Amino acid sequence: MSSSQNPEPQPSAESSIGKLCLVEYPHPALFRKSKPLLRIDGGVRDAVEQMFDIMYESHGVGLAANQVALPYRMFVVNVTGDPDSGEELAFLNPILTRPRGTAIQEEGCLSLPGLRADVRRPQRVVVEAWSVDGQPIRIDLDGFLARVVQHEFDHLDGRLFTDRLPDAAGLEVKRDLELLEDIYHGKQSRGELPPEDIIMAELDRLEDQRCKS
Ligand code: ZN
Repeated sequence: MSSSQNPEPQPSAESSIGKLCLVEYPHPALFRKSKPLLRIDGGVRDAVEQMFDIMYESHGVGLAANQVALPYRMFVVNVTGDPDSGEELAFLNPILTRPRGTAIQEEGCLSLPGLRADVRRPQRVVVEAWSVDGQPIRIDLDGFLARVVQHEFDHLDGRLFTDRLPDAAGLEVKRDLELLEDIYHGKQSRGELPPEDIIMAELDRLEDQRCKS
């Protein structure tokens, strides 16, 4: 199942990742198509741990690397949203196949605070990926787990659930998105967020570190 989209990441020498933070719309990492990880080092394992912590603190059930400004194809899920129950799943270099059926359910996103909308997606899908320990994963998903995995997978391609809404619902969220843009640019102008060129340079650096052979 190793392919150009789903390469097996190789163990690598330790390299740190720093402290990660949740980023909100319209942070550029959210629109960037992530690259497959070619190396798993201490930084990747640390990132997965921090992503679970951030997800639980934010009362989420899934979190993609883009949402913590990492340009890697990986995400974490625990459908209970509870660190003391459910199963913690981390997917590296995932691919989705065999979409079947259709389901409509309301979704939200930690990077789009306050927004919720009904999203149509396949009811079932197969995910193939690698665990953080380098073990192959293949799960035939159904129901809520299938939905969460597809939502997180979209993030890796720079897509948000608001990109999947029918026109009328899309118009309804437009004002909310503009409000988030105003908040974001306000923070940037006050120096609470780095300027775009600094953010992009950091994403490029992280990508070079673990996605180049
Ligand atoms: Zn999301």
